[in-house]
Amino acid sequence: MDFSQPPSLQALLDKISQFVESELFPLERTFLLEGFNAVMPGLAAARERVKELGLWAPNHPTEHGGMGLDLMQHAAISKELGRSPLGHYAFGCQAPDAGNIELLHQFGSPEQKERWLDRLVSGEVRSCFGMTEPQVAGSNPNLIECRARRDGDDYVLDGQKWFTSGADGAALCIVMAVTNPDAPKYQQASMILVPTDTPGFERVRNTPVMGHAGEGYFSHSEVSLRDCRVPVSALLGPEGKGFTLAQTRLGPGRIHHCMRWLGICQRALELMCARAATRLIAPGEMLADKQIIRAWIAESAAEMQAAELMVQHAAWTMHIQGNKAARHSISMIKFYVAGVLQRVVDRALQVHGALGMTDDTVLAFFYREERASRIYDGPDEVHKMSLARQILKSYR
Ligand SMILES: Cc1cc2nc3c(=O)[nH]c(=O)nc-3n(C[C@H](O)[C@H](O)[C@H](O)COP(=O)(O)OP(=O)(O)OC[C@H]3O[C@@H](n4cnc5c(N)ncnc54)[C@H](O)[C@@H]3O)c2cc1C
Repeated sequence: MDFSQPPSLQALLDKISQFVESELFPLERTFLLEGFNAVMPGLAAARERVKELGLWAPNHPTEHGGMGLDLMQHAAISKELGRSPLGHYAFGCQAPDAGNIELLHQFGSPEQKERWLDRLVSGEVRSCFGMTEPQVAGSNPNLIECRARRDGDDYVLDGQKWFTSGADGAALCIVMAVTNPDAPKYQQASMILVPTDTPGFERVRNTPVMGHAGEGYFSHSEVSLRDCRVPVSALLGPEGKGFTLAQTRLGPGRIHHCMRWLGICQRALELMCARAATRLIAPGEMLADKQIIRAWIAESAAEMQAAELMVQHAAWTMHIQGNKAARHSISMIKFYVAGVLQRVVDRALQVHGALGMTDDTVLAFFYREERASRIYDGPDEVHKMSLARQILKSYR
């Protein structure tokens, strides 16, 4: 087994890593203390630089302006970008646009692609994905209540969504709604493209998360759809196939997330080590001299390496054998890597003492923003249930 990266990919990773450190780390202070909108001018300039360097949209098809890298290559890049909260956005491969672009690319009609694809890939507009609803358990998508009623050549949507990430400032929302309430349960819902300026589509608020109401790309919005009318041509893929499309979207999305989380772990470990090696806690004694701190560093490094190998294996399975074959590996990495992320960031924060609680380092942001990693794209418990069900099959 050869674990080395091909030299061309390694060179690309080095270039990206250097860019993240020199161009994005310096923007983080403004972002952490004043918010996303305050850092937009700097970030817009960084995005232009990324384009000039030919590094834009690594995961998107070349015919739409991306680099056309495969899942394995993008996974490696996603880790580098994850070291900064601004990384994925600066390189045009941020969620939820990345998944939405994949959906449009695979299932969009020529007209839908013409209207949205190039503009989304270039970063001219952003999109969001509205599936979860406040009144019903998001873990069970069969409970979705949002309806899209057929009326002549239109769909009329009614319902309430929340945690629609990035809805603030997005031009398009891919809404999951019930179009066929009498069909078998996995064939009731469809995905519908709703431009956010459609009458009846209203962003009610940016839901505060852990004490912070994010803005723009970092928002998680509550959205109301009332008599929201779009033409039938806004249907994405076949009617009643919303769940099938959602599965297609979620598989690669979980690889991207897990590698991004490993980038966060890498940054947290770097900060933990730098702080421990320079914090004097007694005359002639550094924090890094304490056995317990060394244990945290070693445990973090070991857990991160195990997690990365698991993600690479899942990405390889998906790349070679397809989404279905990778299903259980995906469940495994989704909860395992989220757990590693939480533990590593927590240890790094603890090593920083009071400083860790401030927004003077990126750790507190990671800690509060990424606690959600154990909830979104399927809570830990749902993935564990699904994995254990498969394992137990042969024992029954
Ligand atoms: C920061 C953030 C961003 C998000 N972004 C988006 C987005 O862009 N678009 C979107 O549509 N949604 C988004 N979500 C919503 C997310 O997908 C849902 O929160 C998730 O699916 C869980 O649904 P729920 O919150 O309704 O929890 P519930 O379904 O009510 O579950 C609550 C808890 O119950 C437990 N549980 C649930 N089911 C089981 C089970 N079968 N067995 C055992 N225990 C179980 C779990 O511990 C779970 O955390 C986001 C959420 C967060 C926090």
